[in-house]
Amino acid sequence: PSTGGALLVVDRVRKTFGGLVAVNDVSFEVAAGEIVALIGPNGAGKSTTFNLVTGVLRATSGTIRFAGERIDTLRSREIVRRGIARTFQHVKLVPGMTVLENVTLGAHLRGSTGISRSIARLNAAEEGRLLAEAASQLRRVGLEQHMDDEAGSLALGQQRILEIARALCCDPVLLLLDEPAAGLRYQEKQRLGELLRRLKAEGMSILLVEHDMDFVMNLADRVVVMEFGTRIAHGLPREVQNDPAVLEAYLGG
Ligand code: ADP
Ligand code: MG
Repeated sequence: PSTGGALLVVDRVRKTFGGLVAVNDVSFEVAAGEIVALIGPNGAGKSTTFNLVTGVLRATSGTIRFAGERIDTLRSREIVRRGIARTFQHVKLVPGMTVLENVTLGAHLRGSTGISRSIARLNAAEEGRLLAEAASQLRRVGLEQHMDDEAGSLALGQQRILEIARALCCDPVLLLLDEPAAGLRYQEKQRLGELLRRLKAEGMSILLVEHDMDFVMNLADRVVVMEFGTRIAHGLPREVQNDPAVLEAYLGG
């Protein structure tokens, strides 16, 4: 079926946890080369939506299509291989490993086997290929000078960018970033914004969850606003920013 040019189509997706409706028949699309921001107060269902798109959770109902194909029935690894990579809300790095080693953990994910099995089976040539891929992604995001530093020694903003480099090793078409700017200082946010704009210019599609309205307003092509599991607004950043329902959700009415 036609997706009308959209890369990702989330159609009336619902997720319940017992009696709680975490995602309430939510629909939105991400077009190729677009940056879409998913915003909303804590508990709105943003991370759950990410987990549904990436196959970490199964939807209770609704469909998710990527490049025309239904992916809501696939496993995470199959979804990664089709071109969707993500970062998590809470930094998932191995602090005692080097930056380069942390990124190769992402390069492993692109392979056909899990991390531990593929590490055990690696030969020197494969390992060399993984390291080269990881180094190339670190250059792409501007972290090459930190390759041999311990990941735990990096500033938070650099750790977030490291996680993006790791996701890029999966060779994604669509990047999902869960609160990449949370806790970052002003300059770190600026740098992150520059990186995301550059990735977009390279043709990357990006769906990001964000709290910071200003960050989103200067970055996103379109914004989807959720509250209590429901999509309460969507549109251009400026439209959404002045939407009474959004102001009420953010300011507590
Ligand atoms: P957000 O990312 O927008 O802050 P979440 O998607 O994390 O929101 O959570 C949405 C709602 O679903 C919250 O009420 C949260 O407590 C609940 N929730 C999320 N994950 C689970 C889970 N695994 N089991 C039960 N409830 C969950
Ligand atoms: Mg969240």
